[in-house]
Amino acid sequence: MATTATKTFKNLIGGEWVDAASGDTFETSIPATGEALGVFPRSGAEDVDRAVEAAKAAFEEWRLVPAPRRGEILFRFGQLLAERKDDLALLMAREMGKVIPEAAGDVQEAIDMSFYMGGEGRRLFGQTTPSELPDKFNMSVRQPIGVIGVITPWNFPIAIPSWKIAPALVCGNTVVFKPATDTPLLGERFVELLAEAGVPPGVVNIVHGGGGAVGDRLVRHPGVPVITLTGSRETGVEVMRNAADNLKHIHLELGGKNAIVVLDDADLDLAVEGIVWSAFGTSGQRCTAASRVIVQEGAYEELQSRLVAAAERLRLGPGWEDGVDVGPVINQAALDKIHSYTGIGVDEGAKLLTGGEVAGGNGLGDGFFYRPTIFGDVEPGMRIAQEEIFGPTTALLRVRDLDEAVRVSNGIEFGLSSSIFTRDVNKAFRAMRDLEAGITYINAGTIGAEVHLPFGGVKGTGNGHREAGQAALDVFTEWKSIYVDYSGKLQKAQIDTSE
Ligand code: NAD
Repeated sequence: MATTATKTFKNLIGGEWVDAASGDTFETSIPATGEALGVFPRSGAEDVDRAVEAAKAAFEEWRLVPAPRRGEILFRFGQLLAERKDDLALLMAREMGKVIPEAAGDVQEAIDMSFYMGGEGRRLFGQTTPSELPDKFNMSVRQPIGVIGVITPWNFPIAIPSWKIAPALVCGNTVVFKPATDTPLLGERFVELLAEAGVPPGVVNIVHGGGGAVGDRLVRHPGVPVITLTGSRETGVEVMRNAADNLKHIHLELGGKNAIVVLDDADLDLAVEGIVWSAFGTSGQRCTAASRVIVQEGAYEELQSRLVAAAERLRLGPGWEDGVDVGPVINQAALDKIHSYTGIGVDEGAKLLTGGEVAGGNGLGDGFFYRPTIFGDVEPGMRIAQEEIFGPTTALLRVRDLDEAVRVSNGIEFGLSSSIFTRDVNKAFRAMRDLEAGITYINAGTIGAEVHLPFGGVKGTGNGHREAGQAALDVFTEWKSIYVDYSGKLQKAQIDTSE
């Protein structure tokens, strides 16, 4: 419950901090303890409409600010994030639950992205090409599109907004940002720092509230030509459907069911370390989490016993405490869903090797903690091997050889991250070619990304776009081809004018 000391926060619209038009609010709490954290506007259509109007008005000036100047603001933003990194990491451990080193990594990703996209201010390369006609000059340039609707999940509350907002801004667009209702405070801090860095009023607006009331209004709003969403597959499908009437550009980064393949010749110490980090880091609440481990039969028994021992050594607790490896999951609904998959796995005939229970007692009573869980003897068709659980649960599957490993790894609807542990370079290259995923790691787990490479997935993980790297610019710009004829006569392309 909120106490009188619980602070109340507002939306930022057109440079002003305002309540929801209805005056309604919602409260958030700390997943590790259940204590109240803040009170936020429960916004609706009217608030979204006002924010879109503010962003549309600001676009007319922002698009004309030279891109290198826009980039300089992002550099300042990156510096501010770096100065406040420790405070933001602590706040993230409280609001979202991840452990401090991972929370600091989340902030670092935003720092990296801000600097990288700041540099884009001096690139944003187009092309110049020869013309097929004399005395004519051809070029292509990237142009901003307008108001970008940014809808984000709670699991990377600083990094994911930066992957979307930094490229949107450097390209000259303005933004209406709707953060997840589980992490609104970090969203608020994010836009506060952008304003402090020099982003003018109206260029970035934040509207708090639910997916139905705020997100959906953004998705259907005719004044928002681009929606960039990271979330579940179900949400992505709904968003795409609801945006169809306005023919919007839709950029989707959705779920995963990522696998680590371990071949007989792998370095098993390294593999165990990579699996533990990928399966149980962020309590398994990463889109790139390894929720399947596909093991060649010669390594299976040894890997299984080492993995169970390593999982049982992990210490659960509040993310801000020293020595804690695994924080809470985000909320009661997530805890219930994760536990229900333990029941499903047992019913399907998989062998519960460790975990499989809500972790109460020992000071963890009021938090949403779940024991790191490993299932053995999992078959590829089982629900625990097919569906995204988004918690600290992983499934071990036994295969005969690389071909079967690749088939099993690919035999899902998602295609985000993938990994293989092997010392055989030929097999590694076959895996790089054949694994159906946007990301493949060799001798590393499935998680982690560098901001200058494209990030995203194939199949049910997305709709063909990529976040980060140069690829991100394609989401936030339109190409314009420009022909300059300096011949002084009307030259007609493709028309044969020879006598
Ligand atoms: P979610 O789909 O429930 O919510 C994501 C965001 O969409 C939230 O802000 C939510 O309020 C909003 N939303 C929900 N319904 C909406 C609607 N109808 N219209 C508009 N907006 C709507 O996801 P979540 O639980 O916050 O996050 C977890 C999911 O995100 C997982 O599936 C995970 O794999 C995925 N994810 C993917 C990536 C990636 O890059 N591929 C990264 C992180 C998380």
